[in-house]
Amino acid sequence: MSERRAVFPGSFDPVTVGHVSIIRRAAPLFDTLYVALGVNTSKRSMFPEDQRLAWLEETFGGDANIEVVRFEGLTVDLCRRLGAGHIIRGLRNSTDHGYERSIALMNRSMGQVDTLFLPAEPEHAHVSSTIVRELIANKADVSAFVPQAVRIP
Ligand code: ADP
Repeated sequence: MSERRAVFPGSFDPVTVGHVSIIRRAAPLFDTLYVALGVNTSKRSMFPEDQRLAWLEETFGGDANIEVVRFEGLTVDLCRRLGAGHIIRGLRNSTDHGYERSIALMNRSMGQVDTLFLPAEPEHAHVSSTIVRELIANKADVSAFVPQAVRIP
């Protein structure tokens, strides 16, 4: 049987406990799960790419079948390059669902890549990178919402 590979794409600005939970739940289903930092040059981020990548590498360095990669362009093109047949996404609420469903259908028609959704755990359903950035900008303690690797001075 060929290797089962999947991609979990995101901007991880910064990576949160919500992302980590979905990634660790999805990893046992595949031989390799690629955590893929999407670099979008027109989208401004709070944290530089190298920093976001370093946080992901430190967080998942001990997970044998999780690999951290960076990519530009379309997720379906990355899947083709890596030989991955599936994309993993987390769903927090019906807004996520509506948005993710259209992207999933587009990726399936464009690249024959199917998307698997995992529901956010209730204790993470309110955690988003956007809110964490807002808290950081206001000097609040975000340690409960991000993995240990993310140390905000
Ligand atoms: P993007 O900028 O592409 O939305 P993110 O890094 O914000 O990338 O999110 C990547 C994926 O992680 C998405 O599928 C999103 O729904 C999921 N995700 C984000 N936060 C959570 C959370 N708290 N619980 C579960 N899934 C989440």
